Amino acid sequence: MIIAIDGPAGAGKGEIAKLIDERLNFTRIDTGAMYRAVTLKMIRNDISLDDEEGIKELLENTNIELRKKNGNLLILLDGEDVSKLIRTPEVSNLVSPVSSIKQIRIKMVDLQRNMKNIAENIVMEGRDITTIVFPDADVKIYLTADVEERAKRRYKEMCEADMKVTYEEVLENIEARDKNDMQKEMGALKITEDAIVVDNTNMSIEETFETINKIIEERR
Ligand code: C5P
Repeated sequence: MIIAIDGPAGAGKGEIAKLIDERLNFTRIDTGAMYRAVTLKMIRNDISLDDEEGIKELLENTNIELRKKNGNLLILLDGEDVSKLIRTPEVSNLVSPVSSIKQIRIKMVDLQRNMKNIAENIVMEGRDITTIVFPDADVKIYLTADVEERAKRRYKEMCEADMKVTYEEVLENIEARDKNDMQKEMGALKITEDAIVVDNTNMSIEETFETINKIIEERR
């Protein structure tokens, strides 16, 4: 069974995918982490957004892996655990333009589609999973919340991870990413006809899980 979850930043896609993994025994795939890993490598190698050749070479020589360890999802970039490094404001500010680059999307979508074979039950979350990666997924959810509420959640997470940011900076980043993510030429964030919209502005993660779990049960 494939569960596809799309939605803007801070809606709780990651938390829900984690609960679906833990409680319903699905393998979770965080596609945002994959775009973040590519972004980190572009920053490290000083490759600019318009350097087509450099990006092509980078994609040919990059290995991205997701691995579960003690319940947490690790992202490995060429074998190195970059799970924390990909969450910095520097990466968050650049990831949306990086993920707008067509050759990068083509490569990531290809990797993501191949991940279907790693387990029988998969929950994949991102921006284009219900529309492009798995339009035929068994369950298609669009998870969203008001932008201020999403910024508040992200800000709290970043403070807990000891990152030095202000609420205003987080809100600004989320608004900019929302806008850019919705206007992408390829893989834009949008609500597809057969996706079920869950707005969790006034819900806890537990209530959100309950709502989504009911939808999953109906499809099983
Ligand atoms: O999910 P997360 O907020 O970590 O994603 C980071 C960024 O990666 C998003 O803002 C979006 O620009 C990009 N992304 C994407 N397609 C996906 C997942 C993420 O373009 N499937």
